[in-house]
Amino acid sequence: MTFYECLTAAINEFIIYGFDSQDRLDYWVKELRKTAVKSLITPQKLQNELERALKGAFDRLVTKGGLVNKDVTRFTVARLTPKMRAELDRRILASVNLIKFNREESISNMLRRFSGWATSIPIGGSKVVDKKEEKKQIKKELGMLPFKERRVIIDQTHKLIANINEIVALDNGAIAAKWHSNWKQSGYNYREDHKELDENIYLFQNNWAQKDGYVKPKDGYTSNVVAPGEEVYCRCRYKYLYRVSQLPDEMVTQKGKEALQSKKIY
Ligand SMILES: [Zn+2]
Repeated sequence: MTFYECLTAAINEFIIYGFDSQDRLDYWVKELRKTAVKSLITPQKLQNELERALKGAFDRLVTKGGLVNKDVTRFTVARLTPKMRAELDRRILASVNLIKFNREESISNMLRRFSGWATSIPIGGSKVVDKKEEKKQIKKELGMLPFKERRVIIDQTHKLIANINEIVALDNGAIAAKWHSNWKQSGYNYREDHKELDENIYLFQNNWAQKDGYVKPKDGYTSNVVAPGEEVYCRCRYKYLYRVSQLPDEMVTQKGKEALQSKKIY
């Protein structure tokens, strides 16, 4: 029996008999759970898909050299690989748990919705039930799940990329990070409060350039704001800044300007 056939049978029975015994309800709740679980993509398949997405991102950045640029050497990436691999493992574990939780929640919501409806039908049944609408509502709880699971994979991949980038940036002496909100990208459902942060530049706490008196904060510190990608479905990212000359004038002190002029720093 498919989930939908099971749901149809359960609803038909309650329309005829109504909520006349707990046993009848327990029986259908059990059957609905069974067929619902069967109707979903298996946890193993989902986990494979998740691992493929996360490991794919990891490989692009770490194994295939995506992180290497004029600020980050191949040597740095090699040295940080174990730390980044730990981040990958941590992310996979968190995602598997999140997916398990979403699944349990969707099935419970569906069963709660069904039980709520079934127990409202008086003994002897009812003729005034809109079967179609009720089925649609109960099914909806499960129908959202594949969409939610896909979002978890995309979201966790984005978080992994953000965290790997930050590990490298901090190790490599980044001074500051510039917020990119992607709000101009069409079709992207951006957060209004993150659009406000677009182009803001946050200093890292204890960065070398500030310790030496070359720079000062404009928008504050990275530790004072939520990290890009930290909030659910946030697609914002940081561009890391390593040189004083990459900062706007207002963030460079007089001492910094003189040091730049004399090419003591860059
Ligand atoms: Zn955002």
